[in-house]
Amino acid sequence: KLYNEVQELKGNIRVYCRIRPFLRGQNSKLTTIDYIGENGELVLVNPSRQGKDSHRMFKFNKVFGPTATQAQVFLDIQPLIRSVLDGYNVCIFAYGQTGSGKTFTMSGPNISSEEEWGVNYRALSDLFHMSHVRRNAFTYEVGVQMVEIYNEQLGYSSIKVKRFLNLRTLGIWSISQPHGLVVPDASMFIVKSTSDVLELMQFGQTNRAVGSTALNERSSRSHSILTVHVRGVDLKTGSTSRGCLHLIDLAGSERVDRSKATGDRLKEAQHINKSLSALGDVIFALSQKSAHVPYRNSKLTQVLQSSLGGQAKTLMFVQVNPDVESCSETLSTLMFAERVS
Ligand code: ADP
Ligand code: MG
Repeated sequence: KLYNEVQELKGNIRVYCRIRPFLRGQNSKLTTIDYIGENGELVLVNPSRQGKDSHRMFKFNKVFGPTATQAQVFLDIQPLIRSVLDGYNVCIFAYGQTGSGKTFTMSGPNISSEEEWGVNYRALSDLFHMSHVRRNAFTYEVGVQMVEIYNEQLGYSSIKVKRFLNLRTLGIWSISQPHGLVVPDASMFIVKSTSDVLELMQFGQTNRAVGSTALNERSSRSHSILTVHVRGVDLKTGSTSRGCLHLIDLAGSERVDRSKATGDRLKEAQHINKSLSALGDVIFALSQKSAHVPYRNSKLTQVLQSSLGGQAKTLMFVQVNPDVESCSETLSTLMFAERVS
């Protein structure tokens, strides 16, 4: 309905901004957020500037303020999620500096609290719910893949999980992939319920070689992609549809001071820079309906190529830390978002 109209206008690309609240213990309570409008307006203030230059206005499809709940955010994207059941490919990205709430939005802060679940668990749970609702007309099969991109290399977080799932004799769904995620040898796991997914993810997290602090460190410098494949069979006609949903928690977008970073850190930063700007270029080209879309410039855009553009739908969450100390990072985050929206 309304959603589709908006999609027509925006060429299947939407940008949502989400501002997280101040956290307990955060020193400065000075904010860069001057105004949040009903229709996606956001005014940023830079207190170290004077006069007209101190304020800057942005406009996105929507802005979620610091009090927006996980449920409210999800409600807004539910139609997009459900379109996967009708055979659409959907990419949802979280972009922003480290600490701005990307993981909060995509996964949530605490897996065991359903109320705090982020987009990924809510999406899977909703897809299972819908497949139950439609069970007299369609049969759906759901498979998930987890992939990480670090230093422009693919890693499969699912490898260890595979061993676990073999024990649990959950099937592995081998399909040829004319569309979807182009990672031929990352295993796909059939999941039958949200609890299968929770178990899978929890296992994936706790069984990584690094401790939780190190995991946080590492996850801020890698892109993590959770792909949900859905195959539907129309029980009346026997025709099948295939859609996939990619949920992408991007590496932190903060710029690294070249004069300070050296060695591995510098290399990581360069890879992140390159892939985020390649992503920006691809989305920009798509929004301009450009004939040439530069997918080949990064691993991330290569892997997602068949789910970016064409009939596919893209949503970017642009995450903002309201603290005045983040002012210049916030500005560059919003400028990135403005370009692709
Ligand atoms: P990122 O993944 O971008 O590095 P996180 O998602 O880890 O950031 O968020 C940083 C901190 O802020 C975490 O402690 C997280 O729980 C908290 N946080 C982020 N967004 C919100 C929010 N909307 N409401 C409450 N706390 C949040
Ligand atoms: Mg994170």
